Amino acid sequence: MIPAKVRAAVEALASPASAWVYDPAALTARLGAVRAALPQWTVLYAMKACANPAVLAAAVDGADGVECASGGELAAARAAGARRLAFSGPAKTPADIAAAAAGGAPLTMHAESVRELEALAAAGFAGPVAVRVNRGRALPGSHQMTGAPTPFGMDEEAALAAADRGVALGLDVAGFHLHAVSNCLDAAAYAAHVHDALDWAQRAAAGRFGLRYVNVGGGLGADPRGDVIDLGALAAALGDRPRALLDAGVDLVVEPGRYLAAGAGWYVAEVVDVKTVAGRAFALVRGGTHHFRLPAAWGYAHPFAVVPGPREGAVLTDAEVRVCGELCTPRDVLNAGQRVASIGAGDRLVFADAGAYGWEISHDRFLGHPGPDMVVID
Ligand SMILES: *Cc1c(COP(=O)(O)O)cnc(C)c1O
Repeated sequence: MIPAKVRAAVEALASPASAWVYDPAALTARLGAVRAALPQWTVLYAMKACANPAVLAAAVDGADGVECASGGELAAARAAGARRLAFSGPAKTPADIAAAAAGGAPLTMHAESVRELEALAAAGFAGPVAVRVNRGRALPGSHQMTGAPTPFGMDEEAALAAADRGVALGLDVAGFHLHAVSNCLDAAAYAAHVHDALDWAQRAAAGRFGLRYVNVGGGLGADPRGDVIDLGALAAALGDRPRALLDAGVDLVVEPGRYLAAGAGWYVAEVVDVKTVAGRAFALVRGGTHHFRLPAAWGYAHPFAVVPGPREGAVLTDAEVRVCGELCTPRDVLNAGQRVASIGAGDRLVFADAGAYGWEISHDRFLGHPGPDMVVID
């Protein structure tokens, strides 16, 4: 279940282990699957899912470019040699706008408001601009960005007026940005989103500007419990429909983060104690949700595998065990209950499919414990 090279990396860790293990080749493989399903699309890697330098380097190598959502990400993507960039994010500062305007690799700005368009024009931003719109029905997934009141983009009418304003300001308005959801596992629903986004963008641009860019966003599902969206079914449901737009020279863009990064990261935490309290078995690990916050953020039990270590002290057998971390809060739970054949101090617990939004969203300063080791395998 754990790939041999990951297991070897887990066994090589110093005790007590708390580590992130990354395999950039796993991202490259997922990228291949996206390419196969969407052969003519531009694929940008949404780097906020996992910004580990080795994973980012694999994305820079294999994707067409990188989607950034902060000035810090923009600097990292540029330093990593990204050939092409997109810049999203709901509260861009003057420094962000200046960084975008500073040149380097071609950059498409995803503009979230009229204020931002005005700032771009004032800063002399010369690249293409896509207006972000919040429209359509909410898609099934973990985070709805559209079809609900969110801080992202603009209402349909406001987005049209913003596009007009952008043109009047002399900006190169090229199209629209329609990122809608995260972790959508329903290929038919995602295909419907794409069809709808393409139809709407064509209608919206007509009579305003020549449409050259439609970005349907990220959101391809890769659940931390292992499920992934069926990209073959997505390709079949899209059919040949985008062809006319592609032939007309419109750049069709998808910007997945989670789908590409989820399978490229494993969180590893060593058991330092086991005990039974109020009839419930606990395994306490070095590490926890300050290194891997996703299970706490979403409130699910992340599955784990046990790599037995040199065990010291008590061993629990045939037990449903709750895995908690080293923080002084009852919320520091990585798995609220998983049955194990046996578990004891010295064992290493390996949480797979953890690469996306794992370390990046974690609050590692809380309590001042040492950080996790960062291991890259090749
Ligand atoms: C987060 C984000 C993405 C990536 O979303 P995933 O669910 O990880 O695929 C893409 N585009 C924008 C604008 C985002 O904010």
